[in-house]
Amino acid sequence: MKYKSLREWMGILEQNGILKHITKEVNLEFELAAVGKKACGKYALCFDHPIGKNLPLGNKIPVVTGLTGNRKMFAQAMGVTVDKMSEHFADAQSHPIQPVIVDSKSAPVKEVIIKDVNLYNLPIPIHHEKDNGQYITAGVVVAKNPVTGERNVSIHRLQVNDKNHLGVLLLPRHLMALQRMAEKAGQPLEIAICIGLDPIVLLSSQAIVAMGFDEFGIAGALYGKPIELVKGETVDIEYPAHAEIVLEGKILPNVRKPEGPFGEYPKYYGPQKNREVVELTCMVSRNNPIFQTIVPATDEHTMLGAVAREGGLLKIIQHSVPTTKAVHLTPGGTGRYHLVIQIDKKNAGEAKNAIFAALGSSQEIKHVVVVDTDVDIFDPVDVNWAIATRCQADKDVFIISGACGNKLDPSSKDGLSAKMGIDATIPMADKATNKFHRIQIPGEKEIDLDSYLL
Ligand code: MN
Repeated sequence: MKYKSLREWMGILEQNGILKHITKEVNLEFELAAVGKKACGKYALCFDHPIGKNLPLGNKIPVVTGLTGNRKMFAQAMGVTVDKMSEHFADAQSHPIQPVIVDSKSAPVKEVIIKDVNLYNLPIPIHHEKDNGQYITAGVVVAKNPVTGERNVSIHRLQVNDKNHLGVLLLPRHLMALQRMAEKAGQPLEIAICIGLDPIVLLSSQAIVAMGFDEFGIAGALYGKPIELVKGETVDIEYPAHAEIVLEGKILPNVRKPEGPFGEYPKYYGPQKNREVVELTCMVSRNNPIFQTIVPATDEHTMLGAVAREGGLLKIIQHSVPTTKAVHLTPGGTGRYHLVIQIDKKNAGEAKNAIFAALGSSQEIKHVVVVDTDVDIFDPVDVNWAIATRCQADKDVFIISGACGNKLDPSSKDGLSAKMGIDATIPMADKATNKFHRIQIPGEKEIDLDSYLL
């Protein structure tokens, strides 16, 4: 990989004409998110002059967003083609490269050290209409198991409560387990919140791996060399030496304060509840740091989770159906609920087995469509076409009620959800005939339209 930091990745995007600087003043309240959302997938944006009422001194820190706004950008960031992303990520997960620790002098993130943290000096946006204030959305949280010392890396939404406190949403995953362990012992859980990281680190943090598996190892495998970490100033946590900004702090034991509502990836608001609070103890940054935000529910957001999940899913489904070629968690399905599986069917019934494997592997997956190898799983029109012309609902669709679903799906009954499988593959008996032979114009693929328009 040719980069190892946010700014190096921005440099590559700028060379390719994808990163655009916005020089006019842009309000951190809604306007920045609105512009970022409109550009997502087309351009990465750097807002050079964000303004907001919580920034009385004026702001010198730019905000970037949309750095991997579509699959092509993401694939480029991973150094592979779009169709190889899932497999590439799965391989990295299987062959992690452990991080190395560098000293503070070799860590650009230690160029500035501020003990009196004031979050209002950072350009933290308000994204959606009913959000309960400013939110850090691209903060990678590093923590350690208080007993074993094993590292954990994950992204959490972080609400600005006051100048040095953040509200945090912990889902029932690893960070929550670590926090509960510390809390049971009456202890705070030390964390580091890292902002301004390249796509490799963000993606690695989303891997679905066992507790105790250091997600930074995946970043190392994707870079092809270990990620460099540096020890914290006030916490016993190591974090990326090439981050732009790191907030050190601790999740307080037995403290809960209102957090939310917040516009989430399913394009609905997660409700307000009393949730854990982070007290900040130190902020380190580069000279002239860059702040990164991910506008919730954009492709940039849903894809981060989707690409990481697809890697694991591909392995699981291939285990039961070896003819599985590729998988895609679609943007319309919020990158979580709708899965398209492509198989090179060799035996009748394989499509249904692939559906079982997918539904059994994750609570989040709700609707699964299986298609043949001539269907482009990244093209919703093509997948729709396969359903339209290769599926008979009375025998190719099945529904299971009352399974475990995702609590953020408002149509579920507090997480209890129906599941549906759609077999949109050509029946084995018809494979030898030309009944499902797709029309084709010889030479169409090779036509360069521009050469005809001169
Ligand atoms: Mn983990």
